[in-house]
Amino acid sequence: MSYQPAPSRYADSSLYRRCGRSGLLLPKLSLGLWHNFGDSDPADNRRALILHAFDRGITHFDLANNYGLPPGSAETNFGHIIRTDLPAHRDEMIISTKAGYTMWDGPYGDYGSRKYLLASLDHSLRRLGLDYVDIFYHHRPDPATPIEETMGALAHAVRSGKALYVALSNYNPEQTAAAAKLLRELGTPCLIHQPKYSMFVRTPEQGLLETLAREGIGCIPFSPLAQGLLTERYLDGLPADSRAARDPRFLKPEHLTEQKLTQIRRLADHAKTRGQSLAQMALAWVLRHEAVTTVLIGASKTSQIDDNLGALQNQTFTAAELAHLDQILAS
Ligand code: NDP
Repeated sequence: MSYQPAPSRYADSSLYRRCGRSGLLLPKLSLGLWHNFGDSDPADNRRALILHAFDRGITHFDLANNYGLPPGSAETNFGHIIRTDLPAHRDEMIISTKAGYTMWDGPYGDYGSRKYLLASLDHSLRRLGLDYVDIFYHHRPDPATPIEETMGALAHAVRSGKALYVALSNYNPEQTAAAAKLLRELGTPCLIHQPKYSMFVRTPEQGLLETLAREGIGCIPFSPLAQGLLTERYLDGLPADSRAARDPRFLKPEHLTEQKLTQIRRLADHAKTRGQSLAQMALAWVLRHEAVTTVLIGASKTSQIDDNLGALQNQTFTAAELAHLDQILAS
């Protein structure tokens, strides 16, 4: 059946935030395709997730060369949805991809050389069936390649018209500042940084968020729900359709310790006092930081996207609340 996007999708202009000191607005919630978009995931659910997100005003979709099983399949499957359902709406979408982790055999399919990055971007564009991506990331720092070479490759991607903006992921504050300086000098400023940040992983608070604010770079934290731990999903055991049960390569059942579950229960109790689900509170908590532009969620069901958008109904925390949450997180 041919898809018509919801006419109401842009009704709430407060959904969009400016990305650093750029001209680009991003939705406060973005959808990542790391899980649930590979060849073994049901095609009708993949399509439903993308179209539902788009109908709800989510304009930003995040990929990487290696997403999906087999690696690359998330880009191929997303490209199919764009061609089938969204060809008239490409200019309403911000599509990102990345290179930096192992993608193919031999010395040129990993890390940060110019050779790897530019070849990988060409492969991504072919899988996606696109002429350009909006954002091209270096996925992780490479200790062995001169940072000038990696940043030069990112800038080349923009100059060749294959990417509109460049970005960094998993760089620490010092690496970020050095890369940002080079990218500015090359005339292709860093648009956004993608760090892991959630109530359970607070590393970006040790200098990264400050660096991003100072440099005028946006921030899109990944795994803001700690892959589903910061929800009520695991409170009554391990649901068969959950990430920890279906694909325990990343979120392992042994992460669900009694101490973690007690923390999660206490956080969920506090969320109730705010009129929120735990997922909603966890997302609002990440968005509370003014350096954060958007939170990058994953979803296996369209109802999760709706639940998560509900986070935007209550984004404020009192100092007493934040202190109470810190105390739970330290317990
Ligand atoms: P999240 O922390 O948002 O976890 C998503 C998972 O949480 C879902 O798949 C679902 O799990 C569960 N979930 C989501 N919403 C709800 C809800 N309302 N109620 C109950 N459960 C919920 O993010 P991800 O770990 O998926 O990462 C998001 C994106 O970040 C990735 O797709 C990718 O784009 C990016 N990323 C980037 C990395 C990098 O190095 N730059 C590394 C990792 C991710 P279930 O399947 O069990 O339903």
